[in-house]
Amino acid sequence: MARILMIEDNAANMKLAVFLLEQAGHEAIQTRDAEEGIRIAREQRPDLILMDIHLPGMDGLAATRLLKGNFATRDIKVVALTASAMAGDEEKIKAAGCDGYIAKPLRYQEFLKMVGEMTAGHEPKQGN
Ligand code: MN
Repeated sequence: MARILMIEDNAANMKLAVFLLEQAGHEAIQTRDAEEGIRIAREQRPDLILMDIHLPGMDGLAATRLLKGNFATRDIKVVALTASAMAGDEEKIKAAGCDGYIAKPLRYQEFLKMVGEMTAGHEPKQGN
């Protein structure tokens, strides 16, 4: 099982993602706020962060830059969640330091495939 921090301000997206993560045997930590997400990342060292790009206050790209610029959190994988499919966004997401991205609305197979790839080595242990 992996410990996954989900930073998402949309309640429906949060609910769906947490459901999918828990069904897959992962532990989900939830916050709707980038600043709180950064604090949780430093304190709890999740295996993966799922980062909404559009957040109230600090946006997900700025938060990712901070995480990737800090020695304590730079090794944590960050996957962006983005509703926008505009040209140039992939470059912006990569430039901010994200390890990948998932387009919204979430499609469960694509979502779980990306999470699986990004948490390789944290597969559920037998008997857990
Ligand atoms: Mn949002």
